[in-house]
Amino acid sequence: MALNTVPPKKRLDDVLAKLKSAGYRITPQRLAIVKILIDSREHPSVEQIYRQVRKDFPTTSLATVYNTLERLKEMGEVLELPFSGGSRYDGRNPHPHPHLVCTVCGAVEDLDIDLGPAAEEVAAKRGYADVRHRLEFYGICPRCQGG
Ligand code: ZN
Ligand code: MN
Repeated sequence: MALNTVPPKKRLDDVLAKLKSAGYRITPQRLAIVKILIDSREHPSVEQIYRQVRKDFPTTSLATVYNTLERLKEMGEVLELPFSGGSRYDGRNPHPHPHLVCTVCGAVEDLDIDLGPAAEEVAAKRGYADVRHRLEFYGICPRCQGG
């Protein structure tokens, strides 16, 4: 699947419908967390999501952020990218895709390289089922090269 083909508004509606049909109560805090995940291109960490949601809902707990992320992960609606410094999350595109990571500031960007056909080839040639992939390129982003 190509990157970010689903418009964020449509994706938000889909994810909310899925959460509701799974019996999950959509509180304003949970809605805000889902929105942050779907709108963000930055691959936020738990702490970043927490700080952002608390601007509008100051009583939100860290547990609510974790709990919402867990639920979205179970439903396959958020991609977790584990790094040694902590996980980052992609709620715009939950399907595996490659990323470009800045080793100085920790920026994580999407890379528009489709590894789907390669994964299918691996599955077919090696007889593996449920083949997924994870790929990151590392470097120093243009902003961090300045000055
Ligand atoms: Zn950087
Ligand atoms: Mn991504």
